[in-house]
Amino acid sequence: MFCEKCGAPLNDGEKFCPNCGAAQNASYVPAEQPAEQQNTTPLMVLGIVALALAELGLPGLIVAIIARKKIKAYVANGGQLTGKAKVGNILSRIALPVSIVMMVFWVIYGVVIAVLAASGLLEEAMKEAMDEAIYGFLKF
Ligand SMILES: [Zn+2]
Repeated sequence: MFCEKCGAPLNDGEKFCPNCGAAQNASYVPAEQPAEQQNTTPLMVLGIVALALAELGLPGLIVAIIARKKIKAYVANGGQLTGKAKVGNILSRIALPVSIVMMVFWVIYGVVIAVLAASGLLEEAMKEAMDEAIYGFLKF
């Protein structure tokens, strides 16, 4: 710290300059936003969106990863995992594995459909189903 008037070096918290006697602005504190005042709403929203999209697989995984990164940054910044931040933390932690499992499921599902379509089985099965439906309709 230095004197506001003459620039002489001061000890931390000194209210008057030992050189010129000028009063120092004691209310000055470094502009550091307290963790409690950080906006935690986006953390909660990201958690909710991640979980909502988890059933789709990849979209949920992307949002969950973003949520995890934001929450880690928030904690690294001295943020407390309470309230909305806690909700976002829990939801994104659930969304992460769920979306991975769902992504694997959709990949397998896609492969199965592709294999069935390629082998003509799907077409056959659909034709059979249509025939049955028409037959059932005609029976009435
Ligand atoms: Zn001074």
